[in-house]
Amino acid sequence: MRFECVIVGGGIVGLATATTLSKRQPGASILVLEKDQELATHQTGRNSGVIHSGIYYKPGSYKARFAREGNASMVEFCREHGIKHDVCGKVIVATENDELPRLENLYQRGLQNSLAVSRLAPEQVREIEPHVTCIAAIKVPSAGIVSYRQVAKTYADIIQAHGGTIQTGTRLLKVRKGTDTATLETTRGEIEARVVINCAGLFSDRVARSAGTDPNAKIVPFRGEYFELVPEKRQLVKGLIYPVPNPEFPFLGVHFTRMIDGTVHAGPNAVLAFKREGYRKTDFSLRDTWETLTYPGFWKLARKHMDEAWMEMRRSFSKRLFVRSLQRLIPEVRAADLVPCKAGVRAQALLPDGKLVDDFLILRERNVIHVCNAPSPAATASLEIGKAIAEQVPELQTRVTVSAPS
Ligand SMILES: Cc1cc2nc3c(=O)[nH]c(=O)nc-3n(C[C@H](O)[C@H](O)[C@H](O)COP(=O)(O)OP(=O)(O)OC[C@H]3O[C@@H](n4cnc5c(N)ncnc54)[C@H](O)[C@@H]3O)c2cc1C
Repeated sequence: MRFECVIVGGGIVGLATATTLSKRQPGASILVLEKDQELATHQTGRNSGVIHSGIYYKPGSYKARFAREGNASMVEFCREHGIKHDVCGKVIVATENDELPRLENLYQRGLQNSLAVSRLAPEQVREIEPHVTCIAAIKVPSAGIVSYRQVAKTYADIIQAHGGTIQTGTRLLKVRKGTDTATLETTRGEIEARVVINCAGLFSDRVARSAGTDPNAKIVPFRGEYFELVPEKRQLVKGLIYPVPNPEFPFLGVHFTRMIDGTVHAGPNAVLAFKREGYRKTDFSLRDTWETLTYPGFWKLARKHMDEAWMEMRRSFSKRLFVRSLQRLIPEVRAADLVPCKAGVRAQALLPDGKLVDDFLILRERNVIHVCNAPSPAATASLEIGKAIAEQVPELQTRVTVSAPS
């Protein structure tokens, strides 16, 4: 088979990229290749479903820009396509005095990122979230909720309506780069493409290496585990309730999220996963674990964050500790109010010096583009990431020669 452009990975980033390309050039020969039988079953289908505002990110970074612009484009997209969503806003609450300077920094960062943030006194928080106890808070009105699985499905419909092809159940094994085209070796035969875009999420570093590009970073999988409030206790949470995050850590701390289907999730934590798609505590892959444990960057990171990592590990195995973290936000929540639910695994790129790649990372080598770091808020920012990638893609031809698939 031959396509002008092949996008590897049927998650929200790959599908958003294909959506942008196919809308720009209707009829262009575009293929989205997905190894699983279904689209969006990994990070995209296992996240918190929050349309982030962009408050947390360093001003001027891609994350800050794409989250803010992506928040607006995601809401607009949902409106246009009748996807259920709710711009419910969120509160970030401080419960201890030593969190106040960090809360203030976050407020200032919100202003720098041009967000309509406001400071709230505890009684104002109670008007929004009656069960929260705190000493100060900020409100971020542009945050919202949606099902990213639903968004991804709509992207897929648009791609197909514009003449693009989606092929599931086909894993990319290797990319051989030629002068003008690349050959993709897959589990269902070879595909020739003029442009290849790697959006393989948890496997994006391996796909890059298989194409001869060293991203100088390794994906380290961090599992995020959740509990769910039992239906009788859902009224404890009206919208989105977050703690003040540790700025040294890329994760936001366990929080309460009202999902678009009305359920309320508590989490996610952040524990090292011993398998890239390891959603259960017992999941293990020798290859994935070996790669992590033999990577010098991992040990440098582990040494730096030993205390947090140990705490996360203990909390993963102790519901009591998990509940205690949640009680800092809502003191009346009890262990009996929570049942375990799905987990997700974040694809976080780690540098050899032990630093986590802070921003989105997109590398290009001739006609092969690699999305090497697209953690949260990449679902929110998916249309903006898609646009940024599409700008790097040369004009695509619509004509395509198809030979019988092997
Ligand atoms: C617990 C958790 C909570 C999160 N919460 C939020 C949130 O509230 N808001 C937000 O904006 N973001 C959130 N995120 C981040 C967001 O989900 C991700 O940034 C986003 O989904 C990344 O999309 P992706 O397409 O890059 O990856 P994925 O969704 O993982 O898709 C990659 C796809 O590539 C496929 N693939 C991999 N290798 C191959 C191969 N060799 N051949 C073919 N196909 C391949 C995989 O099967 C997969 O379908 C969260 C993430 C997690 C894990």
